[in-house]
Amino acid sequence: MTGKLKSKLQVMKFGGTSVGNASCIARAAEIVAQAARENAVVAVVSAMSGVTNRLVDAATHAAAGDAKAGATLIAALRQQHQDALAALVPAENTRTAVADRIETTLAEGQRLFDGTALLRELTPRALDTISSLGERLCAPIFASAVSELGVRGVAVDATELIITDSYHGGAEPLMEQTRERCEACLRPMLKENIVPVATGFIGATREGALTTLGRGGSDYSATILGAALGADEVIIWTDVDGVLTADPRLVPDARIIPEISYREAAELAYFGAKVLHPKTLRAVLPAGIPVWIRNSFAPERAGTRISQQGRSIGGGVKALTAIRDVALISIGGPGIVGVPDVVGRTFSTTAELRANVLLISQSSSQNDICFIVAAADAQRTVEALRREFAQDLSHEVVDHITVDPKIAIVAVVGENMRGTPGVAGRTFNALGREGVNIIAIAQGSSEANISFVVEDGAMKQALLATHREFGLANAPSSREENSEFQDVRK
Ligand code: ASP
Ligand code: MG
Repeated sequence: MTGKLKSKLQVMKFGGTSVGNASCIARAAEIVAQAARENAVVAVVSAMSGVTNRLVDAATHAAAGDAKAGATLIAALRQQHQDALAALVPAENTRTAVADRIETTLAEGQRLFDGTALLRELTPRALDTISSLGERLCAPIFASAVSELGVRGVAVDATELIITDSYHGGAEPLMEQTRERCEACLRPMLKENIVPVATGFIGATREGALTTLGRGGSDYSATILGAALGADEVIIWTDVDGVLTADPRLVPDARIIPEISYREAAELAYFGAKVLHPKTLRAVLPAGIPVWIRNSFAPERAGTRISQQGRSIGGGVKALTAIRDVALISIGGPGIVGVPDVVGRTFSTTAELRANVLLISQSSSQNDICFIVAAADAQRTVEALRREFAQDLSHEVVDHITVDPKIAIVAVVGENMRGTPGVAGRTFNALGREGVNIIAIAQGSSEANISFVVEDGAMKQALLATHREFGLANAPSSREENSEFQDVRK
């Protein structure tokens, strides 16, 4: 394609299952190569599925003094990645450079595991570097798979592209610096018809220390790069057909939502619908760049388009989601009305821990504040609150700080619920009919969701009842002819 002006700039992210083995990588590379004949394309890749978990696991073992865990994993990763590379790039001389790069990354990994086992200490910074290995192994393989298809792919470490603050394990991008880096590094490659293949999940501080954006953060990497480059669209290629009205394992007649707004998708992500990392849409919001969720295993399917407007469907309610791995923390007692700044102190405590608070509810008598955090954050949150309120507990003005892990949150999401009266009423009537007991309720002032807390065991029933009540299975499932979609697949 000499000299032809590329019609648009696409950032395409492939998740762990989409690069899970050689044939998945081949399929994903084909999607990239095909798009790159028409458009300027930046690919962003996750680690091969399961690799990050295994790295974190081995790091934990090493920190406990297990000197072998690292070596065992490194050997397995060598096999897995060199095999995938050999399958994708049959000519040995073509793959030597990538094979060497894999070895260099593995050697670094080995040193990190050895150091961890020796020190019996795993700092957040070391954990970030260990966790990054999966993406850094995968990107060069993916790039060479793209090159095999006649489009030049070049792996780029996102430490060169995404500049972040220094919060290891959940860093935030510094967009100005990131933009400069992307212009300097990616733009010239795109001009030469190269497909940069960036590692998802990772970035670096201004000083060059490697950081990660948080587990599942490759989605966020894609929108950060999309925003930095002013892309026309970001496509998250995954292993499901798009955003669904509910989890199909729980609600069998759940269906794909063709279009959804940023806010709705963000609410769904926030409440645990697994398709998107919760921070993903933040990056594209200011510029209004559309984000697609599409199935890399069925690229002929349309997927879900997430945009500023979305598209409304009847009734205002668009989707349901539920999260199970959460705990309800409640803090209260008859005297807490008199305790200075209970709310402020409670949430400065959670903020300090960076515990993710998913729902807050306070009774008007003010003798109980309850909120929900991820189960993983529950214990340390309660401990920190007990320290913060130690004096008040000893004077019995605060009489309890308790945690209940056997609960789930169900959220009813839809932007057009705003100004649609009766959604809350219908929800609670439907639940009442089914005998589902509601423990707490919250509605955000955005009115894009109503969420309620139920016992874990009642979650499925709550979902089925509300899905039926709002006729979510019956809403139109076919997308109107969509010009942008046609373009994507040309
Ligand atoms: N590989 C990373 C993880 O498993 C990032 C990602 O897949 O998005 O968390
Ligand atoms: Mg993911």
